[in-house]
Order: sequence, then structure tokens, then C-alpha cells
Amino acid sequence: MSDFKVETKCLHSGYTPSKGEPCALPIYQSTTYKYDTTDEMGQLFDLKAEGYFYTRLQNPTNDAVAAKIADLEGGVAAILTSSGQAANFYAVFNICEAGDHVVAASTIYGGTFNLLAVTFKKLGIDCTFVDTDASPEEIAAAFRPNTKVLFAETIANPALVILDIEKFAKVAHEHEVPLIVDNTFATPVNCRPFEWGADIVTHSTTKYMDGHAVQVGGAIVDSGNFDWDACGHKYHGLTEPDESYHGVIYTKQFGKKAYITKATSQLMRDLGSIPSPTNCFLLNLGLETLPLRVERHCYNAQRIAEFLNAHEKVSHVNYAGLPDDKYYVLAQKYMNEGRTCGVISFELTGGREAAVRFMDSLKLATIATHVAASKTMILHPASHTHRQMNDEQLVEAGVSPGMIRLSVGIENVEDIIADIEQALKNDIKDNFKKSERTSEMITDITDHFQILPDFYFQVKRIFAIRFAT
Ligand code: PLP
Repeated sequence: MSDFKVETKCLHSGYTPSKGEPCALPIYQSTTYKYDTTDEMGQLFDLKAEGYFYTRLQNPTNDAVAAKIADLEGGVAAILTSSGQAANFYAVFNICEAGDHVVAASTIYGGTFNLLAVTFKKLGIDCTFVDTDASPEEIAAAFRPNTKVLFAETIANPALVILDIEKFAKVAHEHEVPLIVDNTFATPVNCRPFEWGADIVTHSTTKYMDGHAVQVGGAIVDSGNFDWDACGHKYHGLTEPDESYHGVIYTKQFGKKAYITKATSQLMRDLGSIPSPTNCFLLNLGLETLPLRVERHCYNAQRIAEFLNAHEKVSHVNYAGLPDDKYYVLAQKYMNEGRTCGVISFELTGGREAAVRFMDSLKLATIATHVAASKTMILHPASHTHRQMNDEQLVEAGVSPGMIRLSVGIENVEDIIADIEQALKNDIKDNFKKSERTSEMITDITDHFQILPDFYFQVKRIFAIRFAT
């Protein structure tokens, strides 16, 4: 399939029905697969023969979708996971262990930041965060002899910083370390990080790839370009015998597919996190229309970014499609036709209080912890996705307290603009009353159900902000 254009690959890669077979990708909703002899099944367990034996490891529906995503990214192999979080966890943990170190861009999704800064630390893996815009020398200074991975996002969520992929890839390779790039926001329609030197790509397929907000999923794609053997036994999990798998040496037996085979046969075996075949079927439906949707998301976002940029109540807009945006030049270089994604972040002149008031006044856009769905959604990162961070960490992640993240959908753009316009004109008094009423209601609910004091406190805190307006 690799000669086709992205639109064709989205429809045809991964699954080619033979005569009389279904045109739509079938859902193999089965845990297990039948064999005729003991030896046939034994060969599968030894990784000596290819075939399905248990869906936690492999499933035909999942594999077809993984193959499609691998083809879209231009990689040699891919594995699907039950969430984007699981994808990033596996992508790093597949080549890191206790005593190792990771360098990561600081402007990454809050969940990934927490995974690297907190959870990996508990596993004995340290992480140093670097400014995404830092010079190669500054990034290099964060490396240690035990650094195994450099990690970043193509378009950072929610800071919308565009990664200088070539800069990061160069530093990584000078230190004999692979560059892992989370390409969730750009999707392979707008950017293919392997073409710029990234070695491994991850995705939260929950976002644009699905596009309909119906499944949570993740993917890891390997370019097959990183030479694990050339680094001595730094990546010994890939280059030395795996005693938990009959002494297999992944790089010897699987060549360019070593990394993904290890992730499947070790991590999926031991940790699970396989997506359900039904979710993969849904993801595949989303992938079929990905290029059409991405184009529309980007068109709408560009129009809305221009509208916001010209509005007196808006103090700042982050969108790399705006010529005066700090990342415009990088977007022009790395993104297909300079298009980035449908997500915009912006600040109102009234700061945090005005942000909350504005969001509560929207009628079409939904307040939701989600981005990249076909419907327009909005979120306040400091109160929602990034609330676990302190002020210093928020600044490092490129998130200011008043920042609003708008995920522009594929509705008619005039309707979205009209909604934003009316919300920007909102009446302060009405919203004060609304907040007061909502606060009383929440207090009643929390008292009634005796919700945990911590949650009660958090709820009160959010509404305290509204009282101030
Ligand atoms: N990576 C990025 C860039 C994300 O935005 C997210 C979630 O928003 C994730 C990873 C985690 O994905 P999931 O929610 O599918 O676990």
C-alpha cells in the first residue's frame, strides 16, 4: 500500500478482502483461536511460527488497524493499546528499566508529564524535562550516561508548541538514543515525524484518528530505523536473550520489527492493555475519514483563530496557522501545507475569571475533557487536565492559569463563531447569579452523598473563583 496517497491508505491499508470476504473490516470478537495439534500451538508460543493464539497478544481486527496506522506513518510495524497513556508508557518502558533516565520536552500533555515525572520515578526511571525551544546544547546538557529515550510531542497539548523534530532527532542520535514523538495532534495527515528523523511515534487514537469520541485507544509505531545493535548492549532487552521468552534475541530474530515484537510479547503479555476488537473496528471507521475531517478541523480552526486574534476581549491566541505565531515558521516547515490541528488556545483580557465566565456562556461548544472530536469542545487546562501541576510546572508546560483550550469541531464555522461571539458578550451579573446557584446545588449534592472531603474542597475551590467575578 505504501505508494498510495494518505486518503487512499486511510481507506485501504491493513485489510484487503479476498473473493467473497466482507468489504468492511470484520470484528473478530474472540479471545482464542483453534489449532489441530499440540505442536502447532507450541510453535506459536516459541515465536517460531506466526499465528493467533490469544487476543491479549494479537487479534486479526486489531492487527489490521495497527498495520493501517503503521502504513500511514511510514513505519515497519505498530501495536495498538487500550489508551494513549498505555501507548506512551509502553513506548518508553519497552527500552527503559530501573536505573535508566529519560529526557523529555516540558510542554507535553499533563498525563504524560505525570507518567514521566511521578510514576516512572516510582519504577526507578528518572526524567529530566527540557524547554522544547531550548538550543541543542541545552538539550544535550540534560543527557546522562544512562539516558535511554528522548521524548516530545509534535504539537504539544495544550501549549500548541510545534516541535523542531530535526533538532531533537539530531541531539538524540548524537547520544545514541531514539527519539519518541507523540504525534496525536498532528496525525500522519499533517505530519510524518519519521521523515524528519523521529524513530518511534505514539498516538492517543482517542483523538483525531477516532474523531467521534467513541473509543479510548493508543498506538505505537516503529520506523525500524534505530539501530539497537549499534549501541553495544545499551538496549540489552532487545539485543540479549529474553529468558522469559525461551532466550529469543529480538533484534536477531525480528530485525526491524524487534521493538514492536518485544512490546507485544513482553509488555502486552505481562501488563495487558490490549484494545477490544470492537474499539479497533470503531477506530478504523474513524481512520477512513481522517483526511477529510482533519482538513475541515484545520480550516475551521484557522478562521476562528483569526476571529479571536482580532477580538478586543482576547489578549493572546496560540495557533501556529497565524503568521505572527511563534511557531508559524516551524509549522510551515514540518506540517503538510502548514496545517497543524483543530486545537487553539487563547487568553481573555479578563484572565482566569473571564475564562470561566466565557466557558459557562457557550451554547454550542461543550465543556468536556476531550479534544479532537468532530464536535467543538472546550476546556480550562489549569482547572482540568493540568490541575495536578503547581504554578511553576504549569508555566513549564506552557499553560497559564487563564488559558482556554478550544478544540474546534467540524460544524459550520459560522455557527461556532456566532457561539463564541455571544459568549464573549456575556453579562457578568447573570453569570454571577448562575455560579451562585450552581454552587448551592453542588454543596447540596456533596453534602447529600457525603462525597470525599477532598473532592468537596476541589469543587468549592472552582466555584470560589466564580464568586470573585
Ligand atoms: N498524548 C496526548 C498528546 C494527549 O493529548 C493525550 C490525551 O489527551 C494522551 C497522550 C493520552 O491519551 P488517552 O487519553 O487516550 O489515554
